[in-house]
Amino acid sequence: MSDIIQLLPDHVANQIAAGEVVQRPASVVKELLENAIDAEATSIKLLIKDAGKTLIQVIDNGKGMSTTDARLSFERHATSKIKSAQDLFNLNTKGFRGEALASIAAIAHIELKTKQKNDELGTHLKIAGSKVLSQEVVSTSKGTSIAVKNLFYNIPARRNFLKSDTIETRHIIDEFQRVALAHPSISFLLHHNNNEVYHLKENNLRKRIVAVFGAKMNEKLVPINETTDLISIQGFVAKPTYSKKKRGEQFFFVNDRFIKSAYLNHAVVSAFDGLLEGGYHPSYFLYLTVPPTSIDINIHPTKTEIKFENEKALYAILRATVKHSLGQYNIAPILDFNRDANLDTPYQFKQKISNGAAPKITVDSNFNPFKKEQQNYQKDTSNWESLYISTESTEDNQQEELFENQQETQSGKTFQIQKKYLLSSIKSGMVLISQSLAHQRVLYEEFLENITVKEAMSQQLLFPVSISFSATDVAMIAEMKSDLENTGFVFDAFSKETIVVKGIPISITESQITLILEQLLDDIKLEVPESSFSHFDVMAKSFSKSLAIKTGTSLSEKEQETLVHDLFSCKEPSISPFGKAIFKTLTLQEIDTIFNS
Ligand code: ADP
Ligand code: MG
Repeated sequence: MSDIIQLLPDHVANQIAAGEVVQRPASVVKELLENAIDAEATSIKLLIKDAGKTLIQVIDNGKGMSTTDARLSFERHATSKIKSAQDLFNLNTKGFRGEALASIAAIAHIELKTKQKNDELGTHLKIAGSKVLSQEVVSTSKGTSIAVKNLFYNIPARRNFLKSDTIETRHIIDEFQRVALAHPSISFLLHHNNNEVYHLKENNLRKRIVAVFGAKMNEKLVPINETTDLISIQGFVAKPTYSKKKRGEQFFFVNDRFIKSAYLNHAVVSAFDGLLEGGYHPSYFLYLTVPPTSIDINIHPTKTEIKFENEKALYAILRATVKHSLGQYNIAPILDFNRDANLDTPYQFKQKISNGAAPKITVDSNFNPFKKEQQNYQKDTSNWESLYISTESTEDNQQEELFENQQETQSGKTFQIQKKYLLSSIKSGMVLISQSLAHQRVLYEEFLENITVKEAMSQQLLFPVSISFSATDVAMIAEMKSDLENTGFVFDAFSKETIVVKGIPISITESQITLILEQLLDDIKLEVPESSFSHFDVMAKSFSKSLAIKTGTSLSEKEQETLVHDLFSCKEPSISPFGKAIFKTLTLQEIDTIFNS
């Protein structure tokens, strides 16, 4: 038989390598920003169009490249950063693989302009699909500008696989934030579709963190500072009272490189021992400096995981340091975890009230999600049913049976157990319902209907409420504006770090606005649920989670009945929006066996 093995042509090899290096627009952003930093730039601009699908451009004032280097930089394994394998153990740069530009050039259109300090003219290259289309001399300023256009233009499958603009933008912002937080002494600019998202001036670390996450971050930070022979640790942790339900703002940097480490995260979390309520996560920004020889950053292709030589010692030092700082800042005594976050007054209100400047706003601390339903309970379920329920055609016997028996449960008695479950008698036996999951389902379908049918009712606020967010969060809310309006929100002005709300969905109260918007931002950022592409769905899920009655709420008989009725008027009463079983039935037979066995 003849030989069949052949070497892949370079452009094919590059395209394959690109699959690993470039997963999405944000991967390109990361590589280009890191190259600018390695080139010792002091000012870096990132320009994005259409979530990076149309354009990703990075402009730096770094050392630039000679014409030969500019051509070479797009070859695979072309790097100026290491010369021998030995250098791998003493890395001071972000890049070293020499793959990024070659990979990106294989799957996009590239335009490069670059000039070194002492040269009069620079180099202008155009490349597409690994082919150099043109090379010219150009008059340009010192440094490098790389524009990456039409990413994945030659791999339609990859392009179609990209998620919504909101999600891809979020990934880009994540990368940008990581780099910007790692390098406070470099100034950064981020524009998306010609709008300025960030303009970060050269600053100290604390001010950089505040510039990235918004002014209200400042009061949350507790400084961390420790130097030992093995490691130096700088940075901040957020006071436990500001811990979050979602892991959001958790940043480790090792030698100015963002990394993920479940092990070190555990060290920090354990330092908060006893200060965090179950399910809450601390925010932190921790900068570790270790000798480059004591780490191996080579174990992960996208380099967010590293291996430490003295892992156990680092764990112990980190934990002790954070614990010490928390103690020193006297965090423990002021904690009050029994406070219900739902009842918190939004930040702006607090200020206004204490200044006495604004009219007094009363927050409804007795908020009861059922009030509305009680008031207008004559709610026309027939309409609702015709929209969602086809009782005749359903194959699901259980659902049908429960449905039939709803009449019975309405007239029959419902019991609340441990302020957590509802127990109701049905024809075949009994049903045990989780009150909070049931309410989540009811709210979820209600919101979904409102959003999609686009006739949500809105209540106008007597006094518009202004809420502060970070600039990126404001941008995300602005992007979801019309979807949110379909739920009943009415917005007034959007400024850089504030939004003004004039109207809200009838199912929420004024005091919940901040809470549910923050929850929504968290959910969108973390793409919960992973599979969901639709804003609507994430939004409806997020709202239902924020607003559902919680365990521990006692419900009147009427409220219990209302909930049971509403649940079984749902399209899908048996599972919560997050896939949990809402109720369990016990047939008479099953009950009998309990007593006869
Ligand atoms: P690596 O960063 O791993 O070396 P890249 O493919 O990202 O590989 O870049 C290849 C080379 O191109 C770099 O080693 C560097 O010499 C040069 N280069 C890339 N971007 C820049 C830039 N913005 N300024 C100056 N040189 C650059
Ligand atoms: Mg690089």
